[in-house]
Amino acid sequence: MASGFSRCMYCGDSQGTDIDHFKPIVEDPLSAFVWTNHLLACSHCNSNEKRDRYPCSASGECLLVDPCAEDPWDHLVLTLSTGEYAGVTPKGWATIEVFGLGRPDLERGRAKAYVRCKSMLRDWAVQEREGRSEDAREIIESLTVQPFADVLYAMVRRVDDPGALTVFGRDIIYALKKIEDAA
Ligand SMILES: [Zn+2]
Repeated sequence: MASGFSRCMYCGDSQGTDIDHFKPIVEDPLSAFVWTNHLLACSHCNSNEKRDRYPCSASGECLLVDPCAEDPWDHLVLTLSTGEYAGVTPKGWATIEVFGLGRPDLERGRAKAYVRCKSMLRDWAVQEREGRSEDAREIIESLTVQPFADVLYAMVRRVDDPGALTVFGRDIIYALKKIEDAA
């Protein structure tokens, strides 16, 4: 639920090749002309998962996280080691179900992205410490446009958790703090 460069705004894995009408045109034809209703999505998320689904609560509130307007982390939690999302609100659970965020290929991809992020952040800390600022900058740039950018943002959000130092190690904590400060 957070994307890198030209990535699907739902799964974060594939290239965004389609434009999804977040609020389906069948629900509200005029929303077809609202710019913020046009989200970049991959054809699988758009055509196989979400389609025209737009679940609402009994009071009429949409039960999908809008990644343009809301912070997905208010509704979702990611287990970094397994790549599994869980909901922390009814909206979070509905979002996982409608967008198929529990697809096994996505979970495997996020788990591998976690390994990749840790490795790159450790390398970044070394380059930074040893004054190789150009190498350090290239690492950060590539980190922010990789698939599954949501994994990196989930790590940033954990940086102040109790036990984060044990989980991540000193160099990764240093790198995540820098990213957090820059955000
Ligand atoms: Zn997708």
